[in-house]
Amino acid sequence: MNHQQEASIRVGQQMTLTIKSLGINGEGIGYFKRKIVFVDKALPGEVVHAEVTQVKEKYAVARLLRVVEKSKSRTVPPCPVYEECGGCSLQHMDYQAQLASKREIVIESLRKYARLDHPPVAETIGMDNPWSYRNKAQFQVGKQDGKLIAGLYQTGSHKLVDLDSCRVQHEATSEIVQTAKQILGELGIPVYDERKRTGVIRTIVARVAFGTGETQLTLVTATPDIPRVKELILELRTRLPQLVGITQNVNTQKTSLVFGDKTTVLWGKPTIAEKLGDLSFALSARAFFQLNPEQTKKLYDQVKKAAGLTGSELVLDLYCGTGTIGLWLAPHAREVRGIELIPEAVEDARRNAEHNGIANASFHVGRAEQLMPKWAKQGVRPDVVVVDPPRTGLDDALIRSLLDVKPKKIVYVSCNPSTLAKDVSQLLKKYELVSVQPVDMFPQTSHVECTVLLKLRGAND
Ligand code: SAH
Repeated sequence: MNHQQEASIRVGQQMTLTIKSLGINGEGIGYFKRKIVFVDKALPGEVVHAEVTQVKEKYAVARLLRVVEKSKSRTVPPCPVYEECGGCSLQHMDYQAQLASKREIVIESLRKYARLDHPPVAETIGMDNPWSYRNKAQFQVGKQDGKLIAGLYQTGSHKLVDLDSCRVQHEATSEIVQTAKQILGELGIPVYDERKRTGVIRTIVARVAFGTGETQLTLVTATPDIPRVKELILELRTRLPQLVGITQNVNTQKTSLVFGDKTTVLWGKPTIAEKLGDLSFALSARAFFQLNPEQTKKLYDQVKKAAGLTGSELVLDLYCGTGTIGLWLAPHAREVRGIELIPEAVEDARRNAEHNGIANASFHVGRAEQLMPKWAKQGVRPDVVVVDPPRTGLDDALIRSLLDVKPKKIVYVSCNPSTLAKDVSQLLKKYELVSVQPVDMFPQTSHVECTVLLKLRGAND
């Protein structure tokens, strides 16, 4: 460690910085005495005055005090609780600039980790209206000054921020949450208290199907019984006639996981019908579905384009979740096989295949890094492998197996540019990076999703 340099920055110190770029969490990045400094809510091109709040070996964190020279991309965040809520991180940036910055983040990651000077990264595919895009609101319930509140936690804290309306949520979900909150308060149904482990209501989950307009309300409770449950259901049905089902999920554990194991129907249907392109889905309360359906369709179309199927291919859909990517591709392939770790998701995937009359797709429970090499030993030779891993990226064993099995194409769907770039750098041993297409699945946040095409070197199409 360089002590001289270390001594030159301390907590509480104020400094003026020029912001050079946007970090992976949406913070502005500047340099002070060659040390990287992250400043939350500062934008590239700005000169800001900031106060150091944390000093680490490789970086420092500073709090924005004042913008000295303002970026043209700076906008007034429309959300009244933007500063407190941890849900969004880029509302202070114009949408077109958000899209450009997300592309820059992907380019920078590939430069840094895959050592590519000019990675082939296309313009980010955005939304015409980058608001009201989320199909599910999952709000924690709490008490504030004796009043029932519901919302999200502040970034890095356990303080609940009450959300009366949330601009990135579809209006239908906001209306359900607000009305449910009001009714629960009126009936005096006790809120779960995490510390004392008393009370009943933990979370309100509202979901809307964009394709059909059907809506569903789920109450997550700490106890199997809900006091005044009959009145509750009657009020909900009267004031929210758009609901097709009300379900209860019981989570008795002291945990940060939202859902428990048991879900029961309090009234109506257990599922809502959703449509995406030509596919339809029956979604139960806990079933996973992408949160931004409009952009999901664009993302999956990019996967289809990258895969370039002719109808004769065997496609593997690794980390397949409920099988949506595999089912999207199945009509254009000879056969699709999906692998997913969570058994319930695989059951959903099979049900989804049946529901859509898709007979050439099968779904298997297992670890991608174990099942794919096992199949390879049995002579299974995929033409195209689609991977859509969690933020941690691909397992080393899976990368080795891909380099061994050598499918002609790998289509990598990534929600984390850093792990994507690290994995790509390994795959470059045998693959060429053909295209990278960022898709904005979460406008107003710093998340960026990419569809990446890698082609086996020397393979003909
Ligand atoms: N492709 C899906 C969602 C992918 S999310 C869609 O578009 O909807 C990533 C999925 O990978 C999760 O469902 C997670 O359960 C699964 N997963 C995590 N580790 C895995 C592993 N080692 N092998 C297979 N699946 C895994």
